[in-house]
Amino acid sequence: MRPLTYSRAADVDDALALVGADPASAFLAGGTNEVDLIRAGISRSHHLVDINELPLNAVEDRSDGGLHIGALARMSDVARTPSVVQRYPAISRALLLSASEQLRNMASMGGNLRQRTRCAYLRDGISPCNKREPGSGCAALDGFNRGHAILGTSEHCIATHPSDVAVALVAFDADVHLVGPGGERRLLVDDFFLLPADTPDAEHSIAHGELIVGIEVPGAPIARRSVYLKSRDRQSYEFALVSVVAAIAVREGVVADVRLALGGVGTKPWRARQAEAALLGGPADEAAFRRAAAVELEGAVVREHNVFKVELAQRAMVRGLVQSLNGRQS
Ligand SMILES: Cc1cc2nc3c(=O)[nH]c(=O)nc-3n(C[C@H](O)[C@H](O)[C@H](O)COP(=O)(O)OP(=O)(O)OC[C@H]3O[C@@H](n4cnc5c(N)ncnc54)[C@H](O)[C@@H]3O)c2cc1C
Ligand code: SF4
Repeated sequence: MRPLTYSRAADVDDALALVGADPASAFLAGGTNEVDLIRAGISRSHHLVDINELPLNAVEDRSDGGLHIGALARMSDVARTPSVVQRYPAISRALLLSASEQLRNMASMGGNLRQRTRCAYLRDGISPCNKREPGSGCAALDGFNRGHAILGTSEHCIATHPSDVAVALVAFDADVHLVGPGGERRLLVDDFFLLPADTPDAEHSIAHGELIVGIEVPGAPIARRSVYLKSRDRQSYEFALVSVVAAIAVREGVVADVRLALGGVGTKPWRARQAEAALLGGPADEAAFRRAAAVELEGAVVREHNVFKVELAQRAMVRGLVQSLNGRQS
């Protein structure tokens, strides 16, 4: 047993002051990740600041056709919001294919972005793991690495980022809106997630005491055609082995706009920019989709058990693009 203290923030300033006052404190939203990590001894927080009373749970339309999603909006509420379903079907689908209904009812969007990797070696508390104990090594490199990343890896960490919805947010150039002791700032969701490089213990571009207050998704007509596909070991309650967000718009026979992002293969939600560049201005057919997908995976670094992800990711991209082209979600 480890003693924990708990307080409830009345407003944003109160939340910032409470967490800022104690380096071993953490915000508590749905608690579905933080509480697990405390139990496993991975999170060293001993003071939890409950932020559930803050007015950050709305999902609102923006004037440019985009969305503002409050950090405390629950995954299930966002997934079922009509404007999300109609304008960003891949966001809705990514949420509905995450975790379980019970978890989605509790889990917040801010907490989802800040969840930590599911690498079993991080969580077992004893294996060498540079995220848990910087400098101790990485048990996954030569261990059972079937679920691990093939893009964005380093020799210090090959863990995947587990969020489904973050893949869609990266595809649509969403921003994270943060408030901290130094004021407000916004950054692209893509830049919020850090590659492991030499410092795999740093996963997010966020300082202690900074609060995510919302997510801004810019208007993007192409998103109406977006699909989210998820391959996993069982049909529910499981993280992605490979997932894809795909959206394509064709004008006068050539690709006029395209969005592609991958989950389950990168150390962060992976925007497939090389594949997008290869497709733009070219034909919208399966052969072109296959060539573009191959370009994206050229830089893959595989390990003993995750070689299959190279082919699976390419097939997922092609299937996603075909379905977006044909206007089919799944
Ligand atoms: C069995 C299981 C299966 C799952 N399957 C999936 C899946 O398939 N796909 C998927 O995407 N996810 C999955 N998840 C993860 C789940 O989506 C996350 O646990 C959840 O989204 C975290 O949200 P929360 O509100 O509970 O966060 P919390 O647990 O409350 O917080 C998580 C972290 O975020 C910080 N935090 C929370 N809110 C803020 C904020 N506003 N600003 C700054 N920091 C904040 C907390 O301090 C903590 O460090 C699964 C989880 C479980 C337990
Ligand atoms: S892959 Fe990353 S999280 Fe997993 S053991 Fe290696 S360093 Fe730790």
